[in-house]
Amino acid sequence: ALPLEQNNESLIPKMPQFDYTPPPYTGPPSSEILKKRLRYLSPSFFHLYTHPLNLVDGKMQYLFDENGRRYLDAFGGIATVCCGHCHPDVVEAIVNQTNRLQHSTILYLNAAVAEFAEALASKMPGDLKVVFFTNSGTEANELALMMARLYSGSHDIVSIRNGYHGNAAATMGATAQCNYKFNVVQTGIHHALNPDQYRGVFGSDGSKYAKDVEDLIAYGTCGRVGGFIAEAIQGVGGILELAPGYLPSVYSSIRKAGGLCIADEVQSGFGRTGSHFWGFEAHGVVPDIVTMAKGIGNGLPLGAVVTTPEIAKVLTYRCYFNTFGGNPVSTAGGLAVLRVLEKEKLQENAFAVGSYLKERLTSLKEKHEIIGDVRGRGLMLGIELVTDRELKTPAKAETVHIMEQMKEMGVLIGKGGFHGNVFRITPPLCFTKEDADFLVGVMDYAMLKL
Ligand code: PLP
Repeated sequence: ALPLEQNNESLIPKMPQFDYTPPPYTGPPSSEILKKRLRYLSPSFFHLYTHPLNLVDGKMQYLFDENGRRYLDAFGGIATVCCGHCHPDVVEAIVNQTNRLQHSTILYLNAAVAEFAEALASKMPGDLKVVFFTNSGTEANELALMMARLYSGSHDIVSIRNGYHGNAAATMGATAQCNYKFNVVQTGIHHALNPDQYRGVFGSDGSKYAKDVEDLIAYGTCGRVGGFIAEAIQGVGGILELAPGYLPSVYSSIRKAGGLCIADEVQSGFGRTGSHFWGFEAHGVVPDIVTMAKGIGNGLPLGAVVTTPEIAKVLTYRCYFNTFGGNPVSTAGGLAVLRVLEKEKLQENAFAVGSYLKERLTSLKEKHEIIGDVRGRGLMLGIELVTDRELKTPAKAETVHIMEQMKEMGVLIGKGGFHGNVFRITPPLCFTKEDADFLVGVMDYAMLKL
């Protein structure tokens, strides 16, 4: 491909106007930071770009590097920044709480924790009213899996291939992608067929995939299970929506076998999918336990498990506790996030802008053979790139190349899927139609230059 500077600059789409200039950066240059990072930080992950960005400021859907260069953030810190970077209401709530009391632990009363728990419970269907705060999605899912095992008396858990649930013992077991598994002992975990409508063996027939879960219970367990965990839309796995009809049928099989149904809403919660506040709602099911993180705090280290009073009883008189869970600063921020989501109708915006963006990306598919699939809901969209539509051969190198080119033009997107060939678009929910047009223009241009 031609380096961008050799192309016709006038064809490069222009970034929408945005009235904000960050203060000058006075920290060390990125070259120095990179040296320290390579020397002192864990080598367990890769950078998204060949020349990693040193991001120093964020304002709503935009990020700024050390030179003050602006980028449209279409990844949202991995589907996390929901209200927009440094949203003034969220910042104000954090600063106010930090100035009064930074830490106390749940051994004492605290208004921020109690009010946020009440507000979260009000967002839940049915009897899901009891909240446990954690520090991350992993911790939330670990707790959920433990509760299901305690409540049911069974150790057996069913999760879906290609799902991602975290990086501790039980959650790494439930995660079903070799990319994210280390040498973890995963006793009692059964990985069901992925109801993947693009690559799955049964296409969009949810009932056929659901039968596989019945078989897993029948042949892989004593007939009783502890629970089932699934994302409504697999995020890390490449923005894959579960085939229609799958969840209701699986929930019924799991419950018949004595297990609890856990909805992992770490990515798909907080209005991101547009049509509903929680991803599971689009499937017409009510889970027994819901786990969440990421969007809950707009980037604060916060997670939660919500369940029914009946199930929560499994923790009665047991000292289940974590030092930072329910930290007043995080929960004050979380409460502000919920209020902003409502005040600014961000779920509605995710629906309107997400539908528009999906339509535009679907049209782009007509133009570029490399686009094999466009999918997702609201502002949780995936674009799978293939070198052969018929064979669905993953276009891995092209995915990386296009991402780099898009970054050069000022757009940051994510990448994922088992083969690393899916663009993940999960921007802050304040994303506008102009941002969507800019993103599509930039992607189109980068694909034309392949
Ligand atoms: N569950 C899902 C669906 C996720 O996408 C993630 C993280 O990407 C997790 C759980 C783990 O959350 P955390 O990284 O906060 O531990």
